[in-house]
Amino acid sequence: MVKIGVLALQGAVSEHVRSIEACGAEAIAIKNTSDLTLVDGLILPGGESTTMRKLIGRFEMLESLQQFAAAGKPMFGTCAGLILLAKHLVGYDFAHIDVLDAKVERNSFGRQVYSFETNLKIKDVAEHFPAVFISAPHIVDVGETVDILATFEGRIVMARQGHLLGCSFHPELTDDHRITAYFIEMVRERLAKRVNL
Ligand code: GLN
Repeated sequence: MVKIGVLALQGAVSEHVRSIEACGAEAIAIKNTSDLTLVDGLILPGGESTTMRKLIGRFEMLESLQQFAAAGKPMFGTCAGLILLAKHLVGYDFAHIDVLDAKVERNSFGRQVYSFETNLKIKDVAEHFPAVFISAPHIVDVGETVDILATFEGRIVMARQGHLLGCSFHPELTDDHRITAYFIEMVRERLAKRVNL
């Protein structure tokens, strides 16, 4: 069975685990560098990116997360996880894991609309997907090799660059598991290619 990790330092971990299991894959909570060797793909959950980044530092996981991406293993960042994956952050002169060729702005939907739900059309995934936004970032700009999968009010809210996937919202907070299933398929495709090499 395909094994999907969820970075379990802070944030919406159990919701992603539930969604992965609902899709028929095995979910493993990842708490340190050696756990990472157990999984074929990794979800970085929503939560608070500054706190998560501090914990990544405390548990000395930054380099192994970067190596995971460099090895071509699929990674999916949701909300704070998207911020962790991005190469550029508006208002900051540094990035975190620094792998997804996108410029991301934090808390970009304003204080009044801290939290809202809307239906999104998501390329290759769904005509109507119930997307929950909580103090969400958005993608301001993407590099040439990045495919935009969804926008909301003219802002990019989901994108894919090869084995890297990111979205502004929380797909794990509803019972619609199509985005999780899409990510698991990315992981399966990569494993199938390796077997055929
Ligand atoms: N606002 C949070 C941050 O900047 C992200 C919110 C979320 O993950 N729901 O880290």
